[in-house]
Amino acid sequence: MYYGFDVGGTKIEFGAFDSQLQRQATERVPTPGGDYDQLIETLASLVAKYDEQFGCEGTVGIGIPGIEKAEDGTVLTVNVPAAKGRTLRRDLEAKIGRAVALNNDANCFALSEAWDESLQGEKIVLGLILGTGFGGGIVVDGQVLSGKNNVAGELGHMRMPIDAWLHLGENAPIFDCGCEKKGCLDNYLSGRGFEMLYTHYFGEERKAIDIINGFKAGEEKAAGFVDRYIEMLAMVFGGLFTGLDPDVVVLGGGLSNFDYIYEEMPKRLPKYLLSIANPPKVIKAKHGDSGGVRGAAFLNIRH
Ligand SMILES: [Zn+2]
Repeated sequence: MYYGFDVGGTKIEFGAFDSQLQRQATERVPTPGGDYDQLIETLASLVAKYDEQFGCEGTVGIGIPGIEKAEDGTVLTVNVPAAKGRTLRRDLEAKIGRAVALNNDANCFALSEAWDESLQGEKIVLGLILGTGFGGGIVVDGQVLSGKNNVAGELGHMRMPIDAWLHLGENAPIFDCGCEKKGCLDNYLSGRGFEMLYTHYFGEERKAIDIINGFKAGEEKAAGFVDRYIEMLAMVFGGLFTGLDPDVVVLGGGLSNFDYIYEEMPKRLPKYLLSIANPPKVIKAKHGDSGGVRGAAFLNIRH
């Protein structure tokens, strides 16, 4: 069995998957607030419980909104205070006596989609999250590409390409990022960025969903804004896809439910790619909220 834990700020979701990658068990428990020992205990006791239920030792994977520092194994995270600065993977390994895989939740999202039946033959699957933030995960031959420092796929902290920034017009905003740089993609492409750009142009705050509804109702202001955003998205995607040349791109997060993106990308992408490149398929994620736990479990799949 493949066990996955999606460790979030408020809850931990556990899932057990069989060799056909079908889910055989689900359990949700609250995330222990600041108590690290209790966090380890919670994870270990779920492993023990399901080992007994299934009569085997399942493999264990953890997805977390954070990054494991390559040098010392400590976890960088703001959303899970109990795990902050702790060697979560190693301590759980010591507790349960088996190897544990750990990766960030965006990579788990991408991995979950890459192991969907319909995509298993694809070589490079790029997962992009257009949610509160913008992030990504790169999966090559069914495995997460983590890189030397475990930051591969942190595409939200690449800076805006010059064509996309110029496209935003005179006095285009240069947004500060939480990573202390300026102009990171996170602040332009995400749902939050979508709203910040709207405020920049119109001097009023408006929820992303309202803007999209305005667009659908044919409202001129919203339509012009959405058109500008979609073109910017194509420009940024053009750069990312030139660098990574994925076979398939799977979009998740709130804005990924905006179907207009899938209609427009095939039309708009080619002019931002090299002339010999065909655009990859850009599709909507299939596994939604269960992506985190599926991907965490599938960290241990080997061909
Ligand atoms: Zn940044």
